Amino acid sequence: MAGVVIAGGGQAGFQVAASLRQLGYDGDVTIVSEEARLAYQRPPLSKTYIKTDADFDTLLLRPESFYEKNRIAFRGGERVVSIDRGASAVTLSTGETIPYDHLVVATGASNRSLPVPGATLAGVHQLRSAEDAEHLRAGVAEARTIAIIGGGFIGLEVAAAVRALGKDVVLLEAADRLMGRTVSREVSAFFLDRHLQMETDIRLGTALQAIEGTDRATAIRTAAGETIAADLVLIAAGVTPNDALARAAGLTVDNGIVVDAFMTTSDPKIFAIGDCAAFDSPFAERRVRLESVQNAVDQAKTVAARIMGTAEPYRSVPWFWSDQGPFKLQIVGLTAGADHVEVARIGEEGKLIAYCFKGESLLGIETVNRPGEHMLGRRILGQDLKIARADVAHHAFELKAHVAKLMAEAG
Ligand SMILES: Cc1cc2nc3c(=O)[nH]c(=O)nc-3n(C[C@H](O)[C@H](O)[C@H](O)COP(=O)(O)OP(=O)(O)OC[C@H]3O[C@@H](n4cnc5c(N)ncnc54)[C@H](O)[C@@H]3O)c2cc1C
Repeated sequence: MAGVVIAGGGQAGFQVAASLRQLGYDGDVTIVSEEARLAYQRPPLSKTYIKTDADFDTLLLRPESFYEKNRIAFRGGERVVSIDRGASAVTLSTGETIPYDHLVVATGASNRSLPVPGATLAGVHQLRSAEDAEHLRAGVAEARTIAIIGGGFIGLEVAAAVRALGKDVVLLEAADRLMGRTVSREVSAFFLDRHLQMETDIRLGTALQAIEGTDRATAIRTAAGETIAADLVLIAAGVTPNDALARAAGLTVDNGIVVDAFMTTSDPKIFAIGDCAAFDSPFAERRVRLESVQNAVDQAKTVAARIMGTAEPYRSVPWFWSDQGPFKLQIVGLTAGADHVEVARIGEEGKLIAYCFKGESLLGIETVNRPGEHMLGRRILGQDLKIARADVAHHAFELKAHVAKLMAEAG
């Protein structure tokens, strides 16, 4: 038996190995990981890790002893460079070839770079890996003024973290609102207010033209021609899926490696999961690629079960969180297609619940500092409980009582 080979030792790659052992898989399990470090959590990188002197070990998903005990071979610092589907084998950057019974591609995503002058100057950072975060942390310690390009989750999380360290922050967002790809206008507006209160200088509708400096970055120039001093620049302009390996092997790729409900690619021996996989979600009307811990972990569990012959089709409720200073944003469902948003209890300072509907269907719920309602939201979407727009619009609507009533009615 050749066993299971996993390309990528991040959140998804680790989880498939751990779940295989949990389900009693007895063959060889090999993780080939471009990063030399054992699998770790990325979410703290843009939140706590960059503003503290926390040790890398605090990020580890499991210690080395876990891999030994579970007979998971972790080949750190090596890449899968090609897949020979005919021979069912991968070739590594070392030149070695490893055969597989099943191959899991969990190669994640890479930061989008911006093709502007000055993008390669010293003092210009990206944030994806722990190594990036450690460089950023060292740079932040020395910097006084920080420019962040991109008003998505990562840019905003870093903005809040470095404002807490007393740094001056300017943030450029090319679109007319923050987190525009992923949250409702109402939640964008809420966070704009909060970041302005934190005294982050936010420029919406403002694109980056160039980064200025001779050896090091000293300023940014906007498309409108304004020059803003900055001694550190973070580019946080989104990611692209690492699907080149799959494309070169002739697998179907379309903004990610296309998979079915069992995460199987166009080759039945090869699976793709996590940030690099594109799939038809029951929670969206189109094919999606999700960048979240929930998705990476749950897709990995589906693949492990599939290899063991026990899988159900993947239909986990999507959920996500983002910590921006004292504000915890939690999203359940995929709310991008909403045409009507009902905001509840906005009067309570620093808290919010936004119910996002398309027509009469509830697509999802976005909450700020309301973890109870977020958990209820997961139950609503998971059990397909019906919440009507009219109910939510009612000023005394109480989600907890409403869900209890629906559950009682459902028996
Ligand atoms: C700074 C930051 C903050 C985040 N915050 C949150 C959050 O708050 N909540 C949330 O839900 N999600 C968050 N995410 C997203 C979440 O971390 C990702 O969705 C998740 O890590 C995806 O797991 P993955 O295994 O698909 O990819 P990754 O964890 O990126 O792992 C992929 C690994 O594969 C390696 N690799 C690539 N090509 C090859 C190859 N050819 N051979 C071998 N190895 C290869 C890569 O180097 C990488 O180590 C955050 C991400 C970042 C970067």
